[in-house]
Amino acid sequence: MQFIEELKNLIRPLVEEALIEEANKQTLRQLIDNFKQVFNTSVYGSLNPRQRKVYGEDTLELKIVTEIKSGSSNKGWNTVIVLHRKSLEDPWTIDLPCEVKCACPAYRFYASNANYRAKNFYGKPDKWARQRAEKKNTAGVPTMCKHLMRSAEQAVKDDVVEM
Ligand SMILES: [Zn+2]
Repeated sequence: MQFIEELKNLIRPLVEEALIEEANKQTLRQLIDNFKQVFNTSVYGSLNPRQRKVYGEDTLELKIVTEIKSGSSNKGWNTVIVLHRKSLEDPWTIDLPCEVKCACPAYRFYASNANYRAKNFYGKPDKWARQRAEKKNTAGVPTMCKHLMRSAEQAVKDDVVEM
C-alpha cells in the first residue's frame, strides 16, 4: 500500500505538469510576439521564401512548409508551421494553437527546448529539444526564429493564413 502511495506522489507532479503544458500551448500570434522579446529585435533581414507547400487546408490541421533563403548565402532553411482548428468552418488564422520548427542553429539552440516544453515544437524531439537553452532564452519562452517569422509573414501576405 505504501508503495502505491509513493508511486502516486511521484506521478502526480508529472501529470499536473503535462496538463499545465497542454493548457499553455501558445498560438502563432503569441510566438510571433515572443520573437521580439527573446531575440531583442523585430528585424529579420533580407530573407527570401523560395518554395512553399501547404497541406491539409480542408482538414483540422494545416501544415505550411517553406524554404527560406538567407540573403547572405545560398543556404536555404526548411521551416514548418502547423496550425490546429477545432471545426472545419473555422478560418485559418494566426490566433490558432501551433507547432513550429526550423532547421537553423538559432532555432535549435534557443527555441527548441522552450517550444518542446510548451507543446509548440513540431515533430520528433531531438537532443536540442531535450536540453535547456544557454545564453539566450534561458527563461524558456516559446518562440519563432527569423526564418519562421519570414515564412509566417509570407503566408499572411499570400492569404494562406489570416492575421
Ligand atoms: Zn530558423
